[in-house]
Amino acid sequence: MATVNRQIALAARPVGLPQVSDFQLQYSPRPVAVAGEVLVRSVFLSLDPYMRGRMNAAASYARPVAIGEVMTGGVVGLVVQSEAPEFREGDAVVGTLGWQEYAVAPARELRQVPFGAGSISRALGVLGMPGLTAYFGLLDIANPRRGETVVISGAAGAVGMIAGQIARIQGCRVVGVAGSDAKTAWLRDELGFDAAFNYKTDDLDASLQEHCPDGIDVYFDNVGGAITDAVMRQINTGARISLCGQISQYNLVQPEMGPRWLGQLTVKQGRAQGFLISSYADRFAEGLGRLNLWLKQGSLRYREDIAQGIEAAPQAFIGMLQGKNEGKQLVQLSES
Ligand code: NAP
Repeated sequence: MATVNRQIALAARPVGLPQVSDFQLQYSPRPVAVAGEVLVRSVFLSLDPYMRGRMNAAASYARPVAIGEVMTGGVVGLVVQSEAPEFREGDAVVGTLGWQEYAVAPARELRQVPFGAGSISRALGVLGMPGLTAYFGLLDIANPRRGETVVISGAAGAVGMIAGQIARIQGCRVVGVAGSDAKTAWLRDELGFDAAFNYKTDDLDASLQEHCPDGIDVYFDNVGGAITDAVMRQINTGARISLCGQISQYNLVQPEMGPRWLGQLTVKQGRAQGFLISSYADRFAEGLGRLNLWLKQGSLRYREDIAQGIEAAPQAFIGMLQGKNEGKQLVQLSES
């Protein structure tokens, strides 16, 4: 076991899109667990859009990362020292352990990851926070019904790819919006989306008209901005909009002015609702149970994009914000 713990800390608050120089690689002694705690060797680190918000000085729903502090992040890893009866050496666990190769955490802040058919990395994706976000954000917030048309933005990402497939399982017509032809082909050909188009090259209004001939009943919004403006022009009476995220806005220095579409909700008697997945914590077991079942049945597929080594994390994070990831963006920090 290494005696040095390599970590990525926040070096500067980004203006616009983060730069590699906003992060710094630092070294500290490998920590030691004391009573009630567990020492974990990180195997996979999750890179997620919410981390961009934590790099700002302003508090949002969570406090910002301080300059010099290790970046926050979900990790799945292996227990290498346990001072808590709940865990044994060799157990796989998931928790918010940060961008670092080793971390100590109280046992109550970790969840056991069963060794099963797939990689433990799934606890950060399809069987973790993004999968649960897709599950509750679609089913609980938007309640899609058989035969309805569901549009998913950010459709080829960690949350979007799962949300779209769940909508298919519900018997809906599913249309994905993503940022490359390779992504849209994958959504159609491998994930079973009924249609998908590239928002960077295709006309938004015309594509939505073509692929949603009966209008849009449900919109699962990961991105906001011009895509959402276009969707709102074509919603049906009684439409439900699940406001999962607005990634098109996260790197803007000045807020974008767009069409004011709230009137559409009045005219179409629609409902738009935001949510934070953390508020569903007491129902995670239900969500994981269903996601696991669909995986085993083969009705849910996923893709992971895995960068190698802690030094690769800043560039992989920036790439994810720019859409370079195909599926869930991870970094492998050590051998599984
Ligand atoms: P992701 O989709 O795997 O990665 C981000 C994707 O955003 C990129 O691959 C890129 O795909 C797309 N993107 C970047 N800039 C864009 C732009 N200007 N316009 C349109 N698309 C853009 O990330 P994720 O983890 O699944 O998260 C997706 C969304 O869910 C984010 O908004 C995130 O904040 C939100 N989220 C919310 C909750 C919650 O509790 N509410 C929980 C988890 C995630 P393209 O190639 O398609 O552009």
